[in-house]
Amino acid sequence: MGKIICIANQKGGVGKTTTAVNLAASLASLGKKALVVDFDPQGNASAGLGINRYDTKVNTIYNVLANGGIIDSAIYPTKVKNLFIIPSNENLVGAEIELNNTPKREYFLKTILRNIKNNFNYIIVDCSPSLGILTINGLVSADSLLIPLQCEYYALEGLSNLLKTYKLVKKKLNRALSIEGILLTMFDKRTRLSRQVLNEVKKVFPNKMFKTVIPRNIKLSEAPSFGLPAILYDSNSSGAICYLKLAKEIIGVNNG
Ligand code: ATP
Ligand code: MG
Repeated sequence: MGKIICIANQKGGVGKTTTAVNLAASLASLGKKALVVDFDPQGNASAGLGINRYDTKVNTIYNVLANGGIIDSAIYPTKVKNLFIIPSNENLVGAEIELNNTPKREYFLKTILRNIKNNFNYIIVDCSPSLGILTINGLVSADSLLIPLQCEYYALEGLSNLLKTYKLVKKKLNRALSIEGILLTMFDKRTRLSRQVLNEVKKVFPNKMFKTVIPRNIKLSEAPSFGLPAILYDSNSSGAICYLKLAKEIIGVNNG
C-alpha cells in the first residue's frame, strides 16, 4: 500500500520543495514508484521537475479539483525513472477561495488521492507556506507529516502553531496521521549557529528528528533552474547524497 507524506511548514523558504523533489527522486532511484503532488500555487516543485508552469495545456492539481477528480491526465512522468508529478500553478489560489465555501472542504485532496494511492509506493505532497485550507487538505490526505526546519536563528519559531494544527487535524479529521520526522535543512557545519540549532531541536524533539541532516549545498539550489533533481544534476554532490540517505532512512523505518 502506498504511503502519503505531507511536507509542511508555514514558514517560507525552509526547504519544503527542495525536500519534496529530492526525496521523491531519491525514493524513485531506489526503485520505489513515487509521485510528487505540487500543492503550492507557486508551482516550484513542478518547475524543479521540468514542467513548464506557464503552458496552459498542462493539466494541474487545480484542474483535477475543478473537474471533480479526473486525475490520470494530470500525472506526468519526469526525467527520473519511477518518478511522476501532478503539477500546480497559480490557478490553485482560486481553489483556496472556492474550497473555503464548500462543505467537506478539508477532504478534497484525500478523495482525489484515494483512487491512485496504491499505484505508488510513496506520494509526497509539497505544501505552500501557510496553514490555510490547502495545507489542511495536505494533512488530511496524508499518512504522515514531514517538517523541514531551516538551521537558522528562528528555526523553532512557528513550529508550535504547526504542531497545534497537526494535533487538531489528527483529532478531528485524520486520526491515522503521524509525524514522519523533523528534518534539519541547510545545515552548515562551519557555523556555530547550525550546531546550536541541531542541539536545540534534538533536545526538544529527541525522538522525532531524522538521523539524516541536509547540508547547505549550492547544487541543491542550482538544480531546479535546470528542471532537475540534484541526483540527476550532480549525483556526487553532498545534497544529492544526503537526500538519498534520507530516502533510505524513510524506507528503513517504513519497511519498504
Ligand atoms: P516556500 O515556503 O516558498 O515554498 P520552501 O520551504 O519550499 O519555500 P525551498 O524552495 O525548498 O523552500 O528553498 C528555499 C530556497 O533555498 C531555494 O532557493 C532553494 O534552492 C534553497 N535551498 C533549499 N535547501 C537548500 C540547501 N540544502 N542548500 C542550499 N540551498 C537550499
Ligand atoms: Mg516550496
